[in-house]
Amino acid sequence: MLLVAIIGLLMTAAAVALTARRALFLYRLATVGQPAPERVEYARDNAGAELKAQLVEVFGQRKLLKWTPSGTAHFFVMWAFFILLTVYIEAYGALVQGAVTGTPDFHIPLIGTWPVLAFLQDFIAAAALIGLGAFAVIRVKNSPKTLGRSSRFSGSHLGGAWLVLFMIFNVIWTLFLYRAAAINTGNFPYRSGAFVSEGVAAALRPLGEGANDALEHVGLLLHIAVMLVFLVIVVYSKHLHIFTAPLNVLFSRRPDGMGAAQPMRSGGKLLDFEEADPDTDVFGRGKLEDTSWKGFLDFYTCTECGRCQSQCPAWNTDKPLSPKMLILDQRDHAFKVAPYLLAGEEQRKDLHEDVLALLDKPLVGEDGVIHPDVLWSCTNCGACVEQCPVDIEHIDHILDMRRYQVMVESSFPSEAGVMLKNLENKGNPWGMSEMKRAEWVEELDFEVEIVDDKMPEDTEYLFWVGCAGALEDRAKKTTKAVAELLHIAGVKFAVLGPMEACTGDPARRLGMEFLFSMLAQQNIETLNDAGVKKIVATCPHCFNTLANEYPQLGGNYDVVHHTQLLAKLVEEGKLTPITPIEEKITYHDPCFLGRHNKVYAQPRDIMAKVPGVQTQEMHRCKDRGFCCGAGGARMWMEERIGKRINTERVDEALTTDPDRVSTACPFCLVMLGDAISEKKNSGEAKESLEVVDVAQLLIRSVKGEAPATPAS
Ligand code: SF4
Ligand code: SF4
Repeated sequence: MLLVAIIGLLMTAAAVALTARRALFLYRLATVGQPAPERVEYARDNAGAELKAQLVEVFGQRKLLKWTPSGTAHFFVMWAFFILLTVYIEAYGALVQGAVTGTPDFHIPLIGTWPVLAFLQDFIAAAALIGLGAFAVIRVKNSPKTLGRSSRFSGSHLGGAWLVLFMIFNVIWTLFLYRAAAINTGNFPYRSGAFVSEGVAAALRPLGEGANDALEHVGLLLHIAVMLVFLVIVVYSKHLHIFTAPLNVLFSRRPDGMGAAQPMRSGGKLLDFEEADPDTDVFGRGKLEDTSWKGFLDFYTCTECGRCQSQCPAWNTDKPLSPKMLILDQRDHAFKVAPYLLAGEEQRKDLHEDVLALLDKPLVGEDGVIHPDVLWSCTNCGACVEQCPVDIEHIDHILDMRRYQVMVESSFPSEAGVMLKNLENKGNPWGMSEMKRAEWVEELDFEVEIVDDKMPEDTEYLFWVGCAGALEDRAKKTTKAVAELLHIAGVKFAVLGPMEACTGDPARRLGMEFLFSMLAQQNIETLNDAGVKKIVATCPHCFNTLANEYPQLGGNYDVVHHTQLLAKLVEEGKLTPITPIEEKITYHDPCFLGRHNKVYAQPRDIMAKVPGVQTQEMHRCKDRGFCCGAGGARMWMEERIGKRINTERVDEALTTDPDRVSTACPFCLVMLGDAISEKKNSGEAKESLEVVDVAQLLIRSVKGEAPATPAS
């Protein structure tokens, strides 16, 4: 037994040394990146929320359990890691006790003979074994070899995943071997409960005492050896997430990495454009070292599961962007250039030429780590962030790279340049005169107050109309419907008219933070000077920017989306939909209303209150809703690669055979309307099909009007 103990302890020392070396390497590499003190401060100041996140996301596996078969399998395998730690305590105890006393009958003090623990250990090991079988079936069924690009594992390191499954399998069978033999030699600490081990013991018993004694020693060593090899494999592979996932969840943006775009930071401090120095300050991310340590933690934590990829509208329409590969490509590059990043000046001269050659590779570029087509394909829809089980923040990575490309390299799709110029000169993306912003008011048969310096007395809401709502013909119908509904419900509101400028959302999502900051400060000054407290917005992008991003610059308002306010007014009986609308309607969730701000119920509540309406959900809805293609400033860029995202979405809507498609965003209205028009031209959609805002449906029912002129 002494020899067994010596071998076991030597193996342990070697594995611990290798693991510690790797952990130190990973720590040093991550800290080459930029500081991110706000992550630590938030975690420190919100211990309760962080504890809840650990319980729900890590231990409860909330996101994974949404994917029922693989989530359930993962739940059991993960819990096996925790519960089987007790078996390893027993194994090491037996190793040491056997060496000292000659009898390896160690038990954990207090709980070590409790049959419930024995049962739990065997149960979770057996459940993990079934989980491994499920994983194997899922991997075979979703193999990229058969499904190609539509497999969520396409691009992942497949061999490594199979190796890890094999290692977990080895952990489990050696566990049962060692425990069964220990039962037969009388060294097992439990009298009952270990139902699987007892079954295996019955099968081994006929081999005799000597054989079982040898099997106990061999099983014990094998069980420890397999775990140690597994430990080393984990820290050198994608399974590193076993250790980094709780950290990544701890330091991720609460509540979910969506909503507000992160303000720009340089060296961990908020960047002040008036004082920024282009020579010393970091503007976005132009090279790997500009990534914060949280970005590196994202790289280490990706499990290559491909859930993000499977939901990405860009990937699903044959564009080169895969959120998974965006993370993995940066990670692989980080590991390749690590010898340079971690070396001192003197050591760098002696590095292998392959490493030095990599230094010329830009982070973004035709020959870069990330191709520009990847970077500019993103709609910021948030489907990747929503699905990622380990809270990786893809949008933050994309925005930081866009910021560098736009502000330092002036490199972005040229057509978006017109939008930026128009924002700068005219305060709206179309370059129309600001005086046109109030024209829709004249088309109403009641008066709308226009703020003249101060909010008028007794006015509750500032109605933030938005550029599309004020200037785009189809979106103006929503604006007028909302104004009319508020008027009917007796809600006092006013608009800024020519004093309103674009919130800056398209500039920010493109990466032009400077212009965003300029527009935002101008609007905040207008709103604060006018004494605005409550805002209702029809555009989810305006809503998101006003509610979640303006507080970063000192603009704090109580902001609601029009669907939230209208649903409340209906609920309170201030608006009564009475005229039936006998139509089949499918609702499209705008990403910046749904995923980014969790407003899923209210638009549906409004439709549910309209008599006659039959709603039919699309397959991809609510938190798995599919983008219309306009977010992330994509509205202002050509879509040259793959299928158009709006066409893909309308194809899905058509599967429900709707009379109308409803939505709650002026940009979705335009994108879906365009795709519906094309479908009508090609005869794939009925002539009467149209896309409308839920406010347009509501006003029709409240006022008993005939159907509105098709928006599409
Ligand atoms: S935000 Fe949307 S478009 Fe961008 S990478 Fe994620 S899923 Fe794809
Ligand atoms: S980023 Fe998240 S969802 Fe995407 S592959 Fe990695 S772990 Fe999975």
